[in-house]
Parts: sequence; C-alpha cells; structure tokens
Amino acid sequence: MAYQPNPARYEAMEYRRCGRSGLQLPAVSLGLWQNFGEKDAQANCRTMLRTAFDAGITHFDLANNYGPPPGAAEETFGRLLHDDFRPYRDELIISSKAGYGMWPGPYGDGGSRKYLISSLDQSLRRMKLDYVDIFYHHRPDPDTPVEESMGALDTLVRQGKALYVGLSNYPPEQARRAIEVLRALGTPCLIHQPKYSLLVREPEQGLLDVLAEEGVGCIPFSPLAQGLLTDKYLKGIPDDSRVARNLGNGALDENQLTPANVAKAQKLNELAQARQQTLAQLALAWVLKDPRITSVIIGASKPQQITDAIGSLKNYQFSPEELTQIEAILKG
Ligand code: NDP
Repeated sequence: MAYQPNPARYEAMEYRRCGRSGLQLPAVSLGLWQNFGEKDAQANCRTMLRTAFDAGITHFDLANNYGPPPGAAEETFGRLLHDDFRPYRDELIISSKAGYGMWPGPYGDGGSRKYLISSLDQSLRRMKLDYVDIFYHHRPDPDTPVEESMGALDTLVRQGKALYVGLSNYPPEQARRAIEVLRALGTPCLIHQPKYSLLVREPEQGLLDVLAEEGVGCIPFSPLAQGLLTDKYLKGIPDDSRVARNLGNGALDENQLTPANVAKAQKLNELAQARQQTLAQLALAWVLKDPRITSVIIGASKPQQITDAIGSLKNYQFSPEELTQIEAILKG
C-alpha cells in the first residue's frame, strides 16, 4: 500500500530559520552516514525514513561517500525516496557533499572544480534527483584555492543542481573567507556543518561567533558523539551497537569508550533522569539551547532512536546550576 504520511507531521516539530536565509529547517534532522548502506536491512531503512518524515523531519543529510560502500546510502535513499516520498519532494530538504576521497585518481578527492561538479552529478544519478537542496564542500582542501572550490559551488547553483550551498569542517577563519567569496559570487553560504556535542567543544572557539556574525546557519553533526552520549554503553557494549560493528572510517570504536567517558555518561544520565529526559535527549537539548544552532543532525539505527531524539524538543532550557553541574561532570 502506498505510504500515507502522518497528516499532523508539522505540528510536533519545531522549525528554525537557517541563519539570515529564507529557509527553515527542522530542529532535528536525520543523517544517513551509517545504517543505510548496502548490507543494512532495507525494511528498517524505510521505517526510519517514514518515522522521521511522520514526525516532521523534513531534512535528510547525505554525502557522496556514505555507505558502506561509498555511494550506497545515496542509492538506498534514492530508492526509498522514489517509492515513498516522490509526491512530497517539495516538502524535503536533501543535502549531499563532496570533499573526501570518493574515486581513484586525482579528480575524486579534495576541492577542485572538477571533483565537486562531477561528484554532484554522480550523487544526483544515485538519488535519481534533478537537484539537491543543499550541496556542501565536505572539508577544506589546503591545496585548492578557496575561490575555485566556492566557484564550483556557485556554478552548481547557477546550473540548478543545488538550491543552496554549505561548508563542513571548515575552521573559523577559513569559513569566514569562504563565506566572503561566496557572497561576492552572489551565492550566499546557507549553512555550516561542524562536529559539536557535549564532548566536542571546538565550535565554541570562534566558529559559532563567525557564523552568527555572517548570518550563516549551523547544523552540528554527531551531537550524540555517535552513541556515547546515550545510555547505550553504560553497561557494556551491546551487540547491535556501532562500536560492536567495528565499522572503521571514523566510526565510534572501543578506544573511545574510556572509563572516563563512560563515567561522564553515567553522571550525565543521572542529571538527565532528574530532568525527566533520556541521556540522548539531554545531549541534544544542550546543543539546541543555543539560538545560533539551526538543527542537529542525528544518526539512528532504529526508528525508536528518532522518536527519542525528537523528545528533546520538550525541554531544552537549562538552569545556570544545571549548566555548571554539566561542566563539572565534563571536567571529570
Ligand atoms: P549521532 O551522534 O547522533 O550518533 C548516532 C548513533 O547513536 C546512532 O546510529 C545510534 O548508534 C546511537 N543512538 C542514537 N540515538 C540513540 C538513542 N536514543 N539511544 C541509544 N543510542 C542512540 O550522529 P552520527 O555520528 O550518526 O552522525 C549523524 C549525521 O551527521 C550523519 O549521518 C551525517 O549525516 C552527519 N555527519 C557529518 C559529518 C561531516 O563530516 N560533515 C561526519 C559525520 C556525520 P547505534 O548504531 O549504536 O544504535
């Protein structure tokens, strides 16, 4: 039977304006870095996408290299999009990226015009789309002039293959320069995607201020530190967890489950319980309390994790005492 989305989907979700643009994003977005690859159960992928859309999640974040193997997440998404979401394309914000190694030879990595334009063409074919809503340069490339990488993003917008463009993993001063170059080209930078969570605080060292000054949105990735900031690892390593699956390629591994990190998660979990939240909800609420944050991109291996994440929107206010307590826990 054809998928019928929840008619009340826009009532439960909060939408936030992305910087000084006209675009609003859901406060919680779903990323497909993991769990949408070739070997992942397609029925579960379908249920997760439906669960998200039914709850008002309109933004799905992809990249050329998500899988495994690289490209597989875009193929999975393309298939399910065309089965279930084709009538709702205008209700969706779909992003992709290029910047990490994707194909052999000198044109499948970095920030050249050749790579960025070819890569988005490939992503569009995999997702069977005419355009993406947001296209990102996935990381800065020290060997390519920023004018060339940003020029490629501008060209893609002018070609109608992307509606907006963004930056990911750019440090503050490089981000500021790229934002200036894009503005001069007439294609303002919509958004920046940094790693940010209770455990990863670098964006507080200048990036968040640059984005606020420039009117650029901010959509942190891995806000749950890949599961470390959930109750998942409080009593060992469950078989169905990201750590147990030994995925490599930057995925959470056993080395990061240090006694100190697990002890922090234990104490944060107690605080979350006192606030009548799960630890995942506390971790997301803590990021979302900052008005400079447009949305958080969560990952999920199960539909319930998406529902849990959305519960964070019920309370993202923290008293000064709670914030002090959190900092004390994080200091260890
Ligand atoms: P998270 O920090 O949200 O981690 C997600 C993982 O945490 C899930 O897959 C699940 O792991 C676990 N989890 C989530 N919710 C719960 C819950 N309620 N209870 C218990 N465990 C839970 O984000 P990701 O690291 O997955 O990154 C999110 C997205 O960010 C990516 O999909 C991608 O779109 C983007 N990203 C961008 C990068 C960039 O360079 N721009 C880099 C990395 C990510 P489990 O499998 O163990 O159940």
